[in-house]
Amino acid sequence: MQETWQNYIDGAWTDGGAGWIDVTDPATGTRIARHALADAADVDRAVQAARRVHLSGDLTAMRPIERGRMVQAMGRYLLDHKDDIARVLTLEQGKPLWESQIEIEGAALYFEYYGNQASTVEGRSIPLGAGYADFTEYEPFGVSAQIIPWNYPVEMTARSLSAALATGNACVIKSPELTPLTNAWFARAAEAAGFPKGTVNVICGLGRDAGAALAGHRDVNQIVFTGSVPTGIAIATAAARNVVPCVLELGGKSAAIVHEDADLDAFETDIRWGIYFNAGQVCSAMSRVIVHESRHDELVERAASIARSLSVGPGAERPDFGANMGAMVSDAQRDRAEAMVARATQAGARAAAGGRRLNQPGAFLEPTVLSGVTPDMEIATTEVFGPVLSVLPFATEDQAIEIANGTDYGLVGGVFTRDLDRATRAARRLRAGQVFVNEWYAGGVETPFGGYGKSGYGREKGREALWNYVQTKNIAIKLG
Ligand code: NAD
Repeated sequence: MQETWQNYIDGAWTDGGAGWIDVTDPATGTRIARHALADAADVDRAVQAARRVHLSGDLTAMRPIERGRMVQAMGRYLLDHKDDIARVLTLEQGKPLWESQIEIEGAALYFEYYGNQASTVEGRSIPLGAGYADFTEYEPFGVSAQIIPWNYPVEMTARSLSAALATGNACVIKSPELTPLTNAWFARAAEAAGFPKGTVNVICGLGRDAGAALAGHRDVNQIVFTGSVPTGIAIATAAARNVVPCVLELGGKSAAIVHEDADLDAFETDIRWGIYFNAGQVCSAMSRVIVHESRHDELVERAASIARSLSVGPGAERPDFGANMGAMVSDAQRDRAEAMVARATQAGARAAAGGRRLNQPGAFLEPTVLSGVTPDMEIATTEVFGPVLSVLPFATEDQAIEIANGTDYGLVGGVFTRDLDRATRAARRLRAGQVFVNEWYAGGVETPFGGYGKSGYGREKGREALWNYVQTKNIAIKLG
């Protein structure tokens, strides 16, 4: 493992004005490396480098199909280095090695998908009669600032960076302070793909320090943020002060509604992936299951047996896909989740499985299933961001929808039934940006993703995401 990792500004690796941060393996609690910490002056240098590239016109003068090819090359670079990146990702983040591999493959897919679309961002011609020719063009905003969370440091950066580059923006990435190491490969990939220096800048820094300096920088033209609601509000406020748009993706408390005719054998797979993938540290995790009372006990028992079947331990020792789960990202996140479970059981919930930390070093929490949860409990309304599933019963369809919609969030939702009418009705009534019918996480990079309510605004993924990174220009020509 490389001991010292630097920021990447204007095509050069550099130390940071704010010193260093230790990076810890959450599976063992041991320090694995140190990363340079940017201060406001570093942020300014990165923004100015990106701005110079934008103003030079190099990215926009290029034929989009060529820019798209370079974006695609970045994805291939990630795949070519998949094993190296995966090893570091598992050490800094805690997920099993096979999950790291999936994350890198997912990241590469974004570059493939958006690289392919660089040449499809077409304007339209608007008829104004014989005396005029009128058309629209989509221009990049210029400098795109992207503030990245620690749960999927590779995939989240890929998601915004690929679309921003495909549309011709220059970027400043603020990597997460808990998991900054793997973002280095984006700098290397941009260099290998031949982007002009300054096009992709990657800096790590504390949120309140470098993050706030970046979000509030007057030469940033657009902001993308994924993370918590309070930070999202701070970023939206900073964006408003500079009158620049931002995309906010702020997590959720997403619910699956399971009807009495649902296929519970198939649903076991949804439980396994929906709440225990990445140790539940997923913004669109299936953190609540709202199940018809006639199937409640059976579902709780099935969920508990899945939870108990998972072998929990260091991700580095879990190279292969299977019934296993890694560490959470930090002791602090584990403690927070464990405390929420303890408060839930004090309030009357029952731990049908798990609920406690493992009796060994490392940020491990047992895969947990809580029954007896009522809609007003903290555990039913607040994001845990850990491997904790809350099960709530319902009697009528209206009641199920009311419980599902009963939080401030609205990221995703699910409905499990063989009845197409019922599924469609529920899909339309769920207050969420994405609804899964009969498979949690159905969809992919092609399908738009983003929240209602406090889950944020704007859409990532899919065709929709491209419009985050461009502004419309109308050109009207008076003909002679
Ligand atoms: P956070 O929102 O504070 O941090 C996310 C990113 O924002 C990090 O890169 C951080 O450095 C940066 N940041 C923090 N304060 C900032 C500021 N004032 N200005 C600009 N940038 C700033 O999240 P966290 O503290 O790492 O985690 C807390 C909770 O957030 C979690 O328990 C979880 O509920 C939620 N979360 C959600 C997601 C998601 O995917 N939606 C991801 C991570 C965390």
